[in-house]
Amino acid sequence: MKYIDILPMGSIKPDILDILSQHLAKLFPYGIRTLKPLKEPIYAFNFIRNQYFSSKILSEIVNHASSETVKILGVVDVDLYIPIFCFVFGEAQLRGKAAVISLHRLRPEFYGLEPNRELLRERVIKESIHELGHNFGLTHCLDENCVMYFSHSIWHTDAKKSCFCEECHRIINHRFVLQEEA
Ligand SMILES: [Zn+2]
Ligand SMILES: [Zn+2]
Repeated sequence: MKYIDILPMGSIKPDILDILSQHLAKLFPYGIRTLKPLKEPIYAFNFIRNQYFSSKILSEIVNHASSETVKILGVVDVDLYIPIFCFVFGEAQLRGKAAVISLHRLRPEFYGLEPNRELLRERVIKESIHELGHNFGLTHCLDENCVMYFSHSIWHTDAKKSCFCEECHRIINHRFVLQEEA
């Protein structure tokens, strides 16, 4: 059996991890496992930016993949960046094994709004599917409803759906077949 592994890093509430694993199980033809949580990724902290460098976290995540792991998705709750952007919701190795998403900017509280668990869960699901899509070789899609649409802001995340458009769906299904043959 092949698995998509979810790797919590720091304290991530079980309801988030449970709902995420249920949704991924519906969309991807692999088993879903939630691994034992790691500590918060302090090694990726940048004191000047007061943010965490997501590419550094990806290199650590890869080390936790087993021979049964197809993809491994880290879940953190810290503010992520890559040098060319002010922030990122997540990052993935294109056609690679590791991805990471952060809850930090998905919380309504970050935008000065009331906490909303339902909305947070929905955003986590969309961003996770998006990053895993990159792992399976999908690039950004121009369809605003497609989960592979690039979210410049949280409003784009809310506007898109938590599934692939027809074209992305066709491409990713082909990748699943290739993965089976690999
Ligand atoms: Zn993307
Ligand atoms: Zn698409």
